[in-house]
Amino acid sequence: MKQGTQHLGMGARIGIGFVVVLALMVVLSAIGLRYVTEANQRLKDIAQINNVKTELATEMHSALRERALSMHTLPILADPFDKDAEIQRFNAQGTVYIRARDRLEHMPLSPEENEILSRILELTREAQPEVQAVVDMSTFIDDQTAIFDQIRSVAMPRQRAIAEQVSALLDLQRQQTATAVHNAETSYGRVRNLMLGLGTAALLIGILIAGFVSRRATHQARQLAAQAMYDPLTGLANRSLLHDRLEHEIERSKRAYTSFGVVLMDLDRFKEVNDTLGHEVGDKLLREVGRRFKEAVRAEDTVARLGGDEYVVLVHDLDREGIPAIANKLLAALDKPFHWQNQSIDLGASLGVSLYPSQCRDASELLRCADIAMYVAKRAGKGYAVYAPDQVHTNRHDLSLKSELRAAIQADQLCLYYQPQIDHHNQRVIGVEALVRWNHPQRGFLAPDQFIPLAEDAGLIGPLTHWVLRAALTQLVTLQRQGHVLTMAVNLSARNLHDMELPASISALLAEHGIAPQNLILEITESAVMANPSDGLAILTELDRMGVTLAIDDFGTGYSSLAYLKGLPVDELKIDKSFVKDMAENENDAVIVRSTIDLAHNLGLKVTAEGVETQDAWYILDMLGCDCSQGYFMGRPMPVEKLEAWLRESTWSNVPTVALSAP
Ligand code: C2E
Ligand code: MG
Ligand code: MG
Repeated sequence: MKQGTQHLGMGARIGIGFVVVLALMVVLSAIGLRYVTEANQRLKDIAQINNVKTELATEMHSALRERALSMHTLPILADPFDKDAEIQRFNAQGTVYIRARDRLEHMPLSPEENEILSRILELTREAQPEVQAVVDMSTFIDDQTAIFDQIRSVAMPRQRAIAEQVSALLDLQRQQTATAVHNAETSYGRVRNLMLGLGTAALLIGILIAGFVSRRATHQARQLAAQAMYDPLTGLANRSLLHDRLEHEIERSKRAYTSFGVVLMDLDRFKEVNDTLGHEVGDKLLREVGRRFKEAVRAEDTVARLGGDEYVVLVHDLDREGIPAIANKLLAALDKPFHWQNQSIDLGASLGVSLYPSQCRDASELLRCADIAMYVAKRAGKGYAVYAPDQVHTNRHDLSLKSELRAAIQADQLCLYYQPQIDHHNQRVIGVEALVRWNHPQRGFLAPDQFIPLAEDAGLIGPLTHWVLRAALTQLVTLQRQGHVLTMAVNLSARNLHDMELPASISALLAEHGIAPQNLILEITESAVMANPSDGLAILTELDRMGVTLAIDDFGTGYSSLAYLKGLPVDELKIDKSFVKDMAENENDAVIVRSTIDLAHNLGLKVTAEGVETQDAWYILDMLGCDCSQGYFMGRPMPVEKLEAWLRESTWSNVPTVALSAP
């Protein structure tokens, strides 16, 4: 999944979200903190200055009051010393007043303060001589009434006017302090609101990011869940979802007493198409097949792909009677050929059906039984098969054989039997065909038909063929050393024609054993070549170039024409035993054999007949001009010791004899 690199991981997104919110919070806090500090400093400055100013104004105020008091005291005092002391107090208070006023003048003042202060200055200047006159009067004149009159009418109003202005100054300062505090509070409030607003914005952004991340996470989780449950190629259910649906269906069937079925399908010829036309075409075909299967069944049935070209349909409410209808419907879905670039591709399928609850008890068993039935259908070459318990043995047997085969190749449990091939021209053995057997420790000798298809399925045909070639060539060297001039025929399987390394490995084996290439005959069936025309032809051409003899095996059983074979670099044609065996009795077979021999000769091919079981057959083939024969009549496939004896003793041996009879 490249998604991980295309999109950021969920962890990274959440991380980025948090970093963004955190950064926002830090920036906001910094801004807020600056505002608060500034407002604080402003307030502190204003408070400090105002405190000093208020102090000075208060000093002025109390000095004025003290002087007024002194003014009233002076006339009453009789003792000249007391009077003198009072006058000194009066003058001292005047100094206090002037010092305070001077200091005030040098403070930073508002225009209103300046105005009041200059008014005070003016009033003080005007009052000074009159107040001084009253004080002088009090010092020198004893007329108390006249003095008090003077105080009341002249000095006091002057003093009061000044005191009023000082009070006004104090009021103004109080007011200014209050305004500063108010401003500071407003400033705090603004900062608080700003912080609150920005904090809320950060929170909202955080929530948005969290929402976004969680939406993406949910989306991705859903996507992952879908990926985990569906086959990415076809969009059909995958094995896990199928299992899940099967479990549910089993529960449902238990409750509702219904039955259902599982149809397992394996496409025929898909592997050849895939190998010949490429994976892209293969993928398209798999998608199209899935679509057709889905169309063929009801919406509530589940169509799944298990991988490769294996499909499964879970069919609701299916019983034994309903099987033919659904199986034929699914098979019919593949009837219409598939098209790709003007080519029409025919795909068939083999179907296996199993039923719940009559045959199987759980999901795995249903699939296993359907698989066994499918295998039976494939083997029998018929469209579908319904599971029957007796199929188990053959199939489980096959499955375990498959796993044992790999070990068998390594453990040398395989062995070769050799069947002589007799030349019609001099009636002597000219070669042998190597036929593989599996000497199974428990099951005894197994014929190639019992395990070659398994080897093909399990991808073991490469090592198996290699083993056979090595063993056969080693044996040929031994036979040559014993003085026999023989060719060695080895069978290749269809799957070998996919292996582009094959010619090189054969060449290496020939060189290793010192065998001339023309003494090795490789037998390939028609269908093997047809299954993989392009690679097959390339491999055959290379083998031909190396000088190896090539033979078409089982000729007549496939669909190829002699005209098609003409295009192949083959040297020899082996007529299938089914025509040869009954040739004496069946005229049709005799005609086929005769025309095959004639046509092959016209194409310059050598002809070998297989399945010669009787002397009659031998004679007929002799008359028809067949070049070579192989069959029970002359010699059965035999292990090497028997072959060596046969080569020494048989009338067909290449030690010349005159007699012609069955050995
Ligand atoms: P084939 O290559 O056509 O081999 C001939 C088969 O016919 C052999 O069967 C042989 O035992 C049988 N036979 C020979 N003479 C007669 C006769 O007169 N009458 C009858 N009825 N049968 C006769 P076998 O050994 O069971 O092999 C079957 C097939 O298995 C072979 O057919 C060949 O296609 C395949 N095979 C055998 N060995 C190998 C191998 O090493 N590799 C591959 N890929 N296939 C092999
Ligand atoms: Mg053969
Ligand atoms: Mg054959």
